[in-house]
Amino acid sequence: MKLLLIGKNGQVGQELQRTLLPLGELAALGRDGLDLGDLGAVQRVLAEQAPDVIVNASAYTAVDRAESDEAGATAVNAGAVAALAAYARTHGALLVHYSTDYVFDGAKDGPYREDDATAPQSAYGRSKRAGEEAILASGCRALVFRTSWVFSSHGGNFIKTMLRLAGERDSLSVVADQFGAPTSAELIADVTALAIAAYRRGALEGGIYHLTAAGATSWHGLASYAIERAMARGAQLKAGPAQIKPIATEAYPLPAQRPRNSRLDTSKLCGALDLQMPDWKVHVDRLIDQLS
Ligand code: NDP
Repeated sequence: MKLLLIGKNGQVGQELQRTLLPLGELAALGRDGLDLGDLGAVQRVLAEQAPDVIVNASAYTAVDRAESDEAGATAVNAGAVAALAAYARTHGALLVHYSTDYVFDGAKDGPYREDDATAPQSAYGRSKRAGEEAILASGCRALVFRTSWVFSSHGGNFIKTMLRLAGERDSLSVVADQFGAPTSAELIADVTALAIAAYRRGALEGGIYHLTAAGATSWHGLASYAIERAMARGAQLKAGPAQIKPIATEAYPLPAQRPRNSRLDTSKLCGALDLQMPDWKVHVDRLIDQLS
C-alpha cells in the first residue's frame, strides 16, 4: 500500500510521519514538495506518487489571518481538498482529512455530534466546512476527522505560548468562557493510523468522525493546568496558576469569532474502533514532560 502524507511539517503531520510507517510505503511532503495553492502541482504530484491512501495534514490554520484572506484560506482548505477528493474518487484511493470544531457555531448545550447542523462563524470555519462538503460531494472513499485545540511539542500552539508568557510576565489574562478538549497531535496521529488500518480491513465505514481527547476545559483552565504542571517539573515561571486571571471573550477581542462550545462527541469513533479516548490532561502531562 502506498501512502502519501501531505503537510508533514505541521503539528499533526510530524506525528503522522511516525504512526503511518507501519501501514505501508510512505511518501511525506512538506509545503516545499507540494504547495496546495498550486492546483497544477497537486495534479502532478498525485500522478507521480499514485497513492492508495492520501493523508492531508496540511491546512491554512491562521484563523485570524483568514478573516482578511478568505480566498487564500478557501483555496487551501477547500479548493485543493476538492482536487484531492477528485483524484481519490477516480482512482479508488482513500482520502484522510482533518476538520475542526469551528464548523459549528458553539451555541449547542452539550458536545456536538457528527450529524449536528454546521454553522461556521469565521472565514477559517467556512473554508474548512467547504472542504468537508467537497469531499462528501465527490463520493470518494474518505475519513474526515474533526478535532479541536491541537497541541504538540512541534511548532507553535497555545500551551507553549502560555508557558513562554508565564516566564516573562507577572500575571496573565486568559479567556475562561470558551470550552473544548485540548487534543494532542500524538493522539490524532495514533488514532488516524488505527482508523486507516480498520478501514482497510472493512472494520470502519468512511465518513466524518469526531476525534478529540476526553473531558473539556476552558483556555483559562488549560493555561492554569499547564503552568502548574510545568512548575511542578521545576520550571521557573514568574506567573503561577494563582496569577492567571480568567476573562470573558469580549475582553480579548480577536478578528475571528470562536465557538463558546467546542466540545465534540467522540462516541461514534470510539464505538466503531473500540477505543477509549484519554483525558486531555494525559497528553498535556506528556507535553510538559517532553518540554522539561
Ligand atoms: P499546523 O498549522 O501545525 O500545520 C499545517 C501545515 O499545513 C503546515 O505545515 C503548513 O506549512 C501547511 N500548509 C499551509 N498552507 C499550505 C499550502 N498552501 N501548501 C502546503 N502546505 C501548506 O496545523 P495542525 O497540524 O495543527 O492541524 C492539522 C489539521 O487539524 C488541519 O486540518 C487543521 O485545520 C485541523 N485542526 C487544527 C486545530 C488546531 O488547533 N491547530 C484545531 C482543529 C482542527 P508551513 O509550515 O509551511 O506553513
